[in-house]
Amino acid sequence: MSCLFCKIVEGQIPSTPVYQDELSYAFADIHPQAPVHVLVVPREHIASLDGAEENHRALLGHLMHAAARIAQQKGLGKGYRVVVNTGADGGQTVDHLHLHVLGGRHMAWPPG
Ligand code: AMP
Ligand code: ZN
Repeated sequence: MSCLFCKIVEGQIPSTPVYQDELSYAFADIHPQAPVHVLVVPREHIASLDGAEENHRALLGHLMHAAARIAQQKGLGKGYRVVVNTGADGGQTVDHLHLHVLGGRHMAWPPG
């Protein structure tokens, strides 16, 4: 398996853990775009949100719930942003589904 985030989940590539459970793993983004920037990934390899199947519905909810718990743990009571870049136009660069949890500063809209 050549997938970067699969290797991170398996511990073959080091990461800074933030949260983990039986279905997901969360770690600090290596190039943070905000004071808090955490990536939440499923342990199972799913290439993108577009690659999620009907049987992944509960897992997708699990990841969103984990993102909210992480934001609370990080003290982001003033708000935060959860982003899922998908495909080339979406700006996805790693082909393993991941949620960005960004916070600790005001987020502009629209995104670039
Ligand atoms: P995306 O562009 O949405 O696919 O997001 C991929 C994210 O993975 C980027 O924010 C990168 O900074 C981050 N990233 C790439 N390699 C690593 C790594 N080894 N550890 C942590 N984050 C990484
Ligand atoms: Zn993977």
